[in-house]
Amino acid sequence: MLLADKVALITGGAGLNGLGFATARMLAAQGARVVILDLERADPAGAAAKLGPQHVGLVADVTDKASCERAAKAAVEQCGRIDILVNNAGITQPRKTADITGADYDAVLDVSLRGTLYMSQAVLPAMRAAKSGSIVCISSVSAQRGGGILGGPHYSAAKAGVLGLARAMAREFGIDGIRVNCITPGLIATDINKGLIPDDRMQGILDQIPLNRIGEPADVAGCVVFLASPLAKYCTGITLDVNGGMLI
Ligand code: NAD
Repeated sequence: MLLADKVALITGGAGLNGLGFATARMLAAQGARVVILDLERADPAGAAAKLGPQHVGLVADVTDKASCERAAKAAVEQCGRIDILVNNAGITQPRKTADITGADYDAVLDVSLRGTLYMSQAVLPAMRAAKSGSIVCISSVSAQRGGGILGGPHYSAAKAGVLGLARAMAREFGIDGIRVNCITPGLIATDINKGLIPDDRMQGILDQIPLNRIGEPADVAGCVVFLASPLAKYCTGITLDVNGGMLI
């Protein structure tokens, strides 16, 4: 197993149909003890229980710095260490540029970008003390295309911000033995986009994807496990595109 004795935190990991839970499941299958962080309404404890009794669910709001710090502290108290952080929590809104309000902007950037910063800050003391760690940030193809299939321009901006933040952290934390990498998923079938794609748009979307299918959460999860694991031990600051070839 790739991750025996490792402790992995994943934000936004409680949605059973989401990328986060698929990743939690795959991290656990590779031997990691998983700590699922999510909002109370998403029931992180219930999701962790589905993985097995050794896994932990904690209520945390990644937009709140104190909440992130409490969650990291609780993870260390309960599991002894933090080896892996997956910054996965995110929200999107279908909007045109002219329609984005200040509240929309704050909501979307706060979860993806502020959340990635706060959670990375929160795990840093534990990773620095261990002189090792792996942080994987979930960005999006929307950052690269300059427009999502479903998300608004503020979502593209948030996810582009994640790419910049992750590279800057990779540069800064390398000396501490901490790697930071990103994944840019394409269109993946989860609750975030459920019901947002009208049937008459689907063929047009598939025509842009050389592998000719929408991604599954496990397609992303496998790549997160790779970046989190020692298989990627000389990779930092990279972005792994997981999009069926959408950008070729
Ligand atoms: P999802 O809606 O199923 O999962 C998002 C999770 O984040 C939920 O469990 C939600 O409760 C949690 N969350 C929201 N706000 C939070 C907060 N303030 N604090 C803690 N948790 C919070 O969506 P998903 O498709 O599984 O998305 C996972 C990640 O992948 C997101 O960052 C998303 O932007 C990104 N992504 C998804 C796709 C796709 O097509 N599904 C494509 C590219 C990127």
